[in-house]
Amino acid sequence: MNRDFYSNLIFEVSRPGRKGYHLPKNGFENVALPSQLMRETAPELPEVDEPSVVRHYNNLSTNNFGVDTGFYPLGSCTMKYNPKINEEIASHPSITHLHPMQPASTVQGALELYHTLQTYLAEIGGMKEFTLNPFAGAHGELTGLMVIRAYHSSRGDNKRVKVIVPDSAHGTNPASAAVAGLEIVEVKSREDGTVDVDDLRPLLDDTVAAVMMTNPNTLGIFEKNIPEIASLVHDAGALLYYDGANLNPMLGMARPGDMGFDVMHINLHKTFSTPHGGGGPGSGPVGVREGLEQFLPNPRVIKNEDGSFSLTTTDTALGSISATLGNFGVQARALAYILSLGNEGLAEAGKLATLNANYVKEKLRDSYLLPIDGLCKHEFVFDGLNDKSTGVTTLNVAKRLLDRGYHAPTIYFPLLFHEALMIEPTETESKDTLDQFIEVMHDIAREAAEDPETVKTAPHLTPVTRPDDTEAALHPIVTWSELNSKS
Ligand SMILES: *Cc1c(COP(=O)(O)O)cnc(C)c1O
Repeated sequence: MNRDFYSNLIFEVSRPGRKGYHLPKNGFENVALPSQLMRETAPELPEVDEPSVVRHYNNLSTNNFGVDTGFYPLGSCTMKYNPKINEEIASHPSITHLHPMQPASTVQGALELYHTLQTYLAEIGGMKEFTLNPFAGAHGELTGLMVIRAYHSSRGDNKRVKVIVPDSAHGTNPASAAVAGLEIVEVKSREDGTVDVDDLRPLLDDTVAAVMMTNPNTLGIFEKNIPEIASLVHDAGALLYYDGANLNPMLGMARPGDMGFDVMHINLHKTFSTPHGGGGPGSGPVGVREGLEQFLPNPRVIKNEDGSFSLTTTDTALGSISATLGNFGVQARALAYILSLGNEGLAEAGKLATLNANYVKEKLRDSYLLPIDGLCKHEFVFDGLNDKSTGVTTLNVAKRLLDRGYHAPTIYFPLLFHEALMIEPTETESKDTLDQFIEVMHDIAREAAEDPETVKTAPHLTPVTRPDDTEAALHPIVTWSELNSKS
């Protein structure tokens, strides 16, 4: 295989005068466009024949790594296998041919799908009602915080401007709080990775709107003190927010609503299986406990007494937070997933996610530094290699995994450990896959000791090896010019 196919841009394959199309002669005269509508110089477009275009894009597509091509243990992101039946259902014409502005009477089935999923999520989360309108986890956090603000202001309590967020939280938590116009206060974790209740207590006063928690937290540790935390938060007049982006280990095991959480979001694209690499598509439904449902955003889908469904808008509700009723294709996949697994299947998924994570953790801890001992839930964090003398970092290990055909785990997050390497195997992987991965991780640890240079200069087998991450983030070049392509 010509490796140029993997790294050339379509512009570099271009040759002057080459074409991949042939238009029939039209019967019109040449009509000159007004000069103010004309550009001064012709656009720089690639000139390529059809086979070159086809090969170029097909070869590029084989560079793509996905859960359909290999194991993808990306902690916090839940890259589990997405059953193909979900795709079939989401791509059915009765779903793809809907128009978002159709009158409710013509989309009763779609509204029933929405309402059914909303009802199931309320059952799974132990909440009163869900909105499926938000487009992503972060969007759900923002919506949830806006609900919390609306609740406080409905009581005339306007001095609550702070949100307390643990130092282990996902970066979207403080970001969403800031976008919602709230101040962020950090609460520390203890040695065992759970929120330090003694640090939290003095932070709680009448200026706090909410405390955001993730449970199991981003270290994969179950927060055992939630009942105590919930009563402290409620005594202070604040609400408790649950980041349920990653609900896998909780399915059928425990419900945020039963633990005292008031508002939560779920990432359908993670827990309820929609392919979501590269930033989309997503869906971040928000659930609230009884007494907060009137603040959920407009429109809401309700079931009428005669069994039909309608859309309602109310004055107490937040305005619309998305153009429509959210990402319908993702909702369809989620409902297909829930129905195909059923109650027992869902609970099994949670248990297996936890079992798989603990298996990989225990098998690897003789090579990788496990900073927090004990049972984890669906994911766990190593602090780099046990042997720090070789100078091989977590980044090096992650890059070397690419040579071995694995997607890298999440690295340098959470920020609690310098060399964080966060692994989430998910429930959909077989023991064989896990064993192969474990063997490769041990190989890399051995190689780090015997031949550290090879690990430090990895990857050696990928089309792009070591881009300058910082330069790429600060000064990305996203357009083509002859100049860039030569430099
Ligand atoms: C993924 C994730 C989010 C953000 O979800 P997006 O859909 O990417 O916006 C928030 N919190 C946690 C714990 C997550 O894992």
